[in-house]
Amino acid sequence: MTSPEVPKRSKLELLKDGSRQLRGTIAEELTNDSDEFTGDSCQLLKHHGSYQQDNRDLRKAKNPDGTRKGKAFSCMIRTRVPGGKVTAEQFLAELDLCDQYGDGTVRLTTRQGFQLHGVIKGNLKAAIKGINDSKLTTLAACGDVNRNVMACPAPYKNNAIFDSMQDMAYALAEHLKPKTTSYFDLWITDEAGNKTNEAEFQPVEEPIYGKVYLPRKFKIGIALPEDNCVDIYTQDIGLLAIVENEEIIGYNFYVGGGMGVTPSNKKTYAALAKPLSFVEKDQVLAVAEAVVKVQRDFGNREDRKQARMKYLVNNLGIEKFREKVSEFLGGPLIAPRDIEVTGIDDHMGWHDQGDGKLFFGVNIENGRIKDEGDLRIKTGLRKILETYQFDARITAKQSVIFCDIDPADREAIEQILVDHGMKKADELTLIRRFSMSCPALPMCGLSVTESERVLPDLITEFEEELARQGLQEERISVNMTGCPNGCARPYIPDVGLVGKAVGKYTLFLGGNSLGNRLAFIYDDMVPLGEITSRLSPLLEYYKEERQTDESFGDFCHRKGKETLQEKAGLTAK
Ligand code: SF4
Repeated sequence: MTSPEVPKRSKLELLKDGSRQLRGTIAEELTNDSDEFTGDSCQLLKHHGSYQQDNRDLRKAKNPDGTRKGKAFSCMIRTRVPGGKVTAEQFLAELDLCDQYGDGTVRLTTRQGFQLHGVIKGNLKAAIKGINDSKLTTLAACGDVNRNVMACPAPYKNNAIFDSMQDMAYALAEHLKPKTTSYFDLWITDEAGNKTNEAEFQPVEEPIYGKVYLPRKFKIGIALPEDNCVDIYTQDIGLLAIVENEEIIGYNFYVGGGMGVTPSNKKTYAALAKPLSFVEKDQVLAVAEAVVKVQRDFGNREDRKQARMKYLVNNLGIEKFREKVSEFLGGPLIAPRDIEVTGIDDHMGWHDQGDGKLFFGVNIENGRIKDEGDLRIKTGLRKILETYQFDARITAKQSVIFCDIDPADREAIEQILVDHGMKKADELTLIRRFSMSCPALPMCGLSVTESERVLPDLITEFEEELARQGLQEERISVNMTGCPNGCARPYIPDVGLVGKAVGKYTLFLGGNSLGNRLAFIYDDMVPLGEITSRLSPLLEYYKEERQTDESFGDFCHRKGKETLQEKAGLTAK
């Protein structure tokens, strides 16, 4: 096997290297008087599942004497939930913790996890410990390691296919979990139990990651061809299940997907994962490990903007990448099966579970669980969980599924939604069900403009426009982010909106809800207030000239950017 070259390393690589397996000075800083962590600790904290943030709404707040209050620091805490599968107790623990230590809201993420926001430094340890007490973890929810493994969350019973995908998500999460004991030393032990000084530090073997972990974050998702609900092509490794005789016999591996882009850096781009190979079920862990090791040893550690595995796959070419995976695996890879993604299901509403029980998907707009006015999502979900103790699933579209429901309880559960101002999926338009946003302002430090706080009203505008044109039954996916980092996967839906400047967005078209095609930039620097009117002539054109069953995204892709711009009276860009 060829030895990798030793290139120059970024500051963060040097930090990880000297961090005593991700400890750094976090323990000391947890007990000092400062209300913030140092920059180095902020970087290391990500590997423990937390980002330090400050509330941008409060940055300009003033004291009574007119002086600025300064930044109001707090932490976001992300919980890793493979396949989005949680018990009622675990879900309730997050609802309790958000009230006890956070800002009173929980966010269901686009990677099937939980996020708490607004946890001040002094409460960070207690909040993380609280999550661990519920037998969930924040370890590796963020950072340069394999993050939450996504899988189709549909809880069909007596069905080997769905169980198998969800079991695989757990197995991959366990297999690729960092082995460092720093997490337990820092967050799980009591104050006296912290092992923080050099003399006590005993490194453990990190057999997969080595001393400096991965060059960048790493993501895995598992889906079925007829239901790409976890967007496998946007993952570093996407696994598409191959089913024969109602059993999964293996998976097509796709490698090198990723959404993040830096517009000022022309070398960055969004990419869809490429087919690598067919992998038999019992070889999945070994091949995933081999892929991770290729990225570990050959990924770019000098420039973090080139460090995602998509750049390695594209720079090497898929053939060369495949050779390297084979070398680590110690055997050849089999050619991928000829299979395509053909569908998507958001799993909302009532479904027969297959064992006489039902499951019920409840759409949570942009994943934000909160009580506000008459819409009391947090109290409503709490009531359902406390009353029935259902297991639950978090979907990749930031929503929740309740499992194991006795059909006799259906009406009472629907009444709980009504009592708390919530709607069933069939009372929502498809465009609202298939929309999602990242959190952006006020807490995300990278956001350049709004996303979560403006998307609901924008969807209302879209709904009115679609109704005006008689297109209200169309499923149009809309993903919005407050910056180009792409946390809500905005480069693949029918309509992608990416924050470019304050109140202005890059408008992407031509993707689709199946998530198997990249959208193109249709227009740039579009003011929020003009997005609907810019789309209006295109919807009219779609209505006039679409083919049978053609989606809006497929139509835009077929017509192409220039034709659409011409139709809308825009100068070709
Ligand atoms: Fe923040 Fe940008 Fe991610 Fe949105 S896409 S959460 S603004 S980093």
